[in-house]
Amino acid sequence: MKFETKLKAAAAVVILVMSTVALIPLLVNRHVAETMSDLKAAARREHLYQSLISMLRDAETGQRGFIVTGKEEFLQPYYAGTSMIPAVLLELKTENANPQEWGTLKNIEEVTNAKLASLSDTISLRRDSGFEKAAQVIAGGKGRSQMDLLRSLIGEELSDYTQRRNELREKLIITSNIAAYAGVAATLINVVFLLGVLFAAQRALLHRHRAEERANSVSDELRRAAALASLRNAHLQKSAELLHSLELAETMEETSDIIGAYLPALLPALSGSLYLYNNSRNVLERSARWGACDDEPDVLAPLDCWALRRGSEHLAAGPDALGCRHARASSKGTPRLCVPLITQGDVVGCLTVVGAALGGDDGAEQGRWIVQLAEQLGLALSNVRLRVSLRRQSIVDPLTQLYNRRYMDEVLKRELLLAERKGGAVTVVMIDLDHFKRVNDTYGHDGGDALLVAVAAALRENVRACDIACRLGGEEMLIVLPECNMANGLVRAEAIRLAIAALQVRSNGQMLTATASFGVASYPGHGRTVESLVHAADLALYEAKHGGRNCVMGARGAEEADGGA
Ligand code: GH3
Ligand code: MG
Ligand code: MG
Repeated sequence: MKFETKLKAAAAVVILVMSTVALIPLLVNRHVAETMSDLKAAARREHLYQSLISMLRDAETGQRGFIVTGKEEFLQPYYAGTSMIPAVLLELKTENANPQEWGTLKNIEEVTNAKLASLSDTISLRRDSGFEKAAQVIAGGKGRSQMDLLRSLIGEELSDYTQRRNELREKLIITSNIAAYAGVAATLINVVFLLGVLFAAQRALLHRHRAEERANSVSDELRRAAALASLRNAHLQKSAELLHSLELAETMEETSDIIGAYLPALLPALSGSLYLYNNSRNVLERSARWGACDDEPDVLAPLDCWALRRGSEHLAAGPDALGCRHARASSKGTPRLCVPLITQGDVVGCLTVVGAALGGDDGAEQGRWIVQLAEQLGLALSNVRLRVSLRRQSIVDPLTQLYNRRYMDEVLKRELLLAERKGGAVTVVMIDLDHFKRVNDTYGHDGGDALLVAVAAALRENVRACDIACRLGGEEMLIVLPECNMANGLVRAEAIRLAIAALQVRSNGQMLTATASFGVASYPGHGRTVESLVHAADLALYEAKHGGRNCVMGARGAEEADGGA
């Protein structure tokens, strides 16, 4: 049954009981009034019967006095008694409500009338015949027996009335007791029901309170979940942007710049650094940082970080937490989370994050998000690394580590365009090792390869950082010298020629040496396109070969068109 229904039922019972209790005094009052009236009537009738006896006794006393004295004044009580007896008898008859009494009353009336008649007779006899005659009649005892009979009849009635009065009194007591018990019982019933209602109301209130608490906690939970969902959404969106940008990164340096630009937005309430393994993989170098963590070390030894030692994230929060050695004293006491960047089981770096938000209510959620972010970063970094490596493979010759012809084409085209825009010069130096076939024939292919590697190294050492040394194929190489005129190009070529000639390469226990011939051509004097410029340098090289090898030859007809940079 529902609580409201129970409450209505209980209220109905209480109203019913209270209404009944309200009726009890009325009913009791009516009953008492009736009983009192009965008692009054009974008392009146007792009084009438006693009055009748008393009047008859008075009448008899007057009769006796008159008979003894013969004086009329002694008849005064007689007259007083007899004058009222008819009225008393009439009243007894009219007021008599009890049918059982009718018979006795009739007898009393008859005996009374007979007694009155005998009293009147004896008085008349005394008057007419004197004392003796009257005294004889009295001595006959008739008057006394009449009086005894009357007393007996009236006594019976009086005893009936006494009994009736007692009965009425008992009835009154019973009624009063019933009323009292009914009142107490009704009060108890009311108290029980009211207590029941109170208990039920308290339970209902408790239920409602709990339901409200549950509803509030569910609503809080929903609000938190919504806030979390929106935060995750923002995180996902930002991290998607970051990953997309990383997909476009060309170099590892660019990767660090991108990560450094996105981390403040991704982890706004925190600060930290991103460390990546250096090429020799003995230490990690700081490649990005954000927030207030200027005093973080630039280099991290793997053993200084618990996350790197364990190969999984490490949170140091609280005074007794195990802190990493790389954590600076200034950040002591602030929670720190270090997460290794792992891809395909290989640790590529470490993300270290510092901030009070890591230890707050949402610290665990933040931690999960950072670990997830680190996983994505690890994967993205490995992709960039792979891409950089593939790109390098596609443009770098694997033996000499010089750029290949395809890259030379690309770079020279770009440099010619730049030179055209700026009005500058570009010089190309074409190099061909002399009698290289013989080297191969004499020292074997390995010897030739070793010599090629040494020559490539000499090229790299003798050019500027902006110069691009390429291997065109076989033992032919070309150097692109941006913003370099013909004269400077010739000087550089000569320096390289000397460097090659000075090489001494050990292979299979033998010492190898080499010389090379050089053809130099410049933009715009010797050509304005890649093909024409390379062709001009090639022709100059051909001349150098024919001129006895181990020499530098400039392309013809360049002087008047040289940019002079
Ligand atoms: P010249 O002075 O006229 O240039 O003489 P040369 O012997 O260098 O002439 P040529 O261009 O005919 O010979 C080039 C030789 O270089 C032929 C080939 O065996 C060798 N060669 C080409 N590529 C490689 C390479 O990758 N490794 C080695 N060891 N030799 C190579
Ligand atoms: Mg050749
Ligand atoms: Mg050659």
